Amino acid sequence: MPSRVYIALAPGDGIGPEIMDAAVALFNAAGVGEWAEFVPVEMGKATFDKGNTRGIADEAVRTIEDCGVLFKGPMETPKGGGGKSINVTLRKLFSTYANFRVFKTLPGVQTVYSKSGLQLDFSIVRENIEDTYGGIEHRVSNDVIQCKRLISAPGSDQVHRFAFQTARQLGLKKIFCGHKANIMKLTDGLFLDRFKFAAKDFPEIETGDVIVDALCMNLVIKPQQYQMIVLPNLQGDIVSDLAAGLVGGLGFAPSANIGKHISIFEAVHGTAPDITGKGIANPTSLILSGIMMLRHVGLLKQAAILENAMLAALETGLHTGDFGDPSLPGFTKQPATTAQFVQGIIAKLGEKPKTVAAAVVPEQSTPTLTRAPRPATQQTIRTFANVLSHVTGCDFYIDSNLTPPALAEEMQRFAQDTPFKLTLISNRGTQVWPSGSVYTECVDYCRVRFEIKEGVTPGSIGQSRAVALLDKITEKFLVTGYELLRIFDGVKGYSMAQGQ
Ligand code: NAD
Repeated sequence: MPSRVYIALAPGDGIGPEIMDAAVALFNAAGVGEWAEFVPVEMGKATFDKGNTRGIADEAVRTIEDCGVLFKGPMETPKGGGGKSINVTLRKLFSTYANFRVFKTLPGVQTVYSKSGLQLDFSIVRENIEDTYGGIEHRVSNDVIQCKRLISAPGSDQVHRFAFQTARQLGLKKIFCGHKANIMKLTDGLFLDRFKFAAKDFPEIETGDVIVDALCMNLVIKPQQYQMIVLPNLQGDIVSDLAAGLVGGLGFAPSANIGKHISIFEAVHGTAPDITGKGIANPTSLILSGIMMLRHVGLLKQAAILENAMLAALETGLHTGDFGDPSLPGFTKQPATTAQFVQGIIAKLGEKPKTVAAAVVPEQSTPTLTRAPRPATQQTIRTFANVLSHVTGCDFYIDSNLTPPALAEEMQRFAQDTPFKLTLISNRGTQVWPSGSVYTECVDYCRVRFEIKEGVTPGSIGQSRAVALLDKITEKFLVTGYELLRIFDGVKGYSMAQGQ
């Protein structure tokens, strides 16, 4: 076991340095410094301002890779100008595939639920890398921009296994998978299938699935019915902020981004430019995320001591300006500053909360984080290999204003003397040819689908025939993209159009 753990530390922008200083002072007061060393790294606004559009220099990337853990404050995302969110970049760069967020009613944090005596305690595991967060976007015509949504089997497997393993550790009885597989049958369908597959290794955990819109309503009406929910990236992003709202807001919901080699612990709120420099920011979210981080690296005793001190301080009524429960004895009209808030927690170190369950403090704990050797290059993750597939057609995406019948006439001419026939034209996913409604409004971008003619043996043609057809079409039309239609082990690898 390592005798010491190294944690890369990025204070962040805006209120970031204020709340990070407070969190580190608190952790050191609890003896964390004996086992952990914080290694400063520069990223965010200062790096963007130097002209680095990624927001993080190679040197900082190496430091984080060496440490295996990053503790970070909120960071400003440059508006416009092509600079991407450093938060998303970090999650993707280091393959932190699971975002784990815990939503727990805290003493002293008043919500509509706490007022009615409801104590919430559930978590969301959000897939953290794929989905629309690939940010693969293109303008494909005058009027249309597309975003490519990728969901992979191994990416889904990683997040589902993490969810089930965490649920097992926490002794949870049931996990729900949230999704929109009723509409996105292939992508969300895969995410849901892999959830069911992962569940087989965890027979003691009950499972359920819920369509994401119903999930949102259920969470507002009866949040206590959930213990853990696993979701694809975008849906998870939205639902987890909704969940944070149920327990008092983003300031009370810690967040861990877990990867195989590197994990990131951060506050999920932003840089709060309106209160920056005033010394009044609430460090709770960052402290709670830091406590998750200490458990992740094996410092269970220190984490439990800190959690208990924090709960004990909160239940007296200690609060910053953004929250508070006036019914508590220690509530003061004048809120605590960030420094006073942390001093209030330090004063409670060694105590346990009286109104809520205390964390069990182990006798002793030392770092357990071990590191696999640094790989020589990027690794490919796989779930399925050698699936038998063959080409049955192709979809071409065309920048065109032609009416569906006029476009069909042109396309049918191109298909003469090829193994393909035109079977479908759709616009924004709705079939507009050979049948449809004249009331379907069209934009200047459409899909034409060619499938192999009767008599052509499936599997007898390859991609080159589709490319040859593409080549012909591009002599007259702007084809902005194409997708092969393939059958995988006898199952269609493509969806039907709406109305087909
Ligand atoms: P924000 O979370 O910074 O602020 C929203 C409101 O919440 C403000 O009134 C702010 O004062 C308050 N608030 C936020 N954190 C607080 C805290 N710890 N204590 C007390 N009050 C707090 O959201 P925003 O204004 O939309 O974004 C500001 C900047 O933060 C943007 O540049 C955005 O890109 C960035 N941001 C970063 C992250 C991150 O790093 N994880 C997340 C969200 C936004």
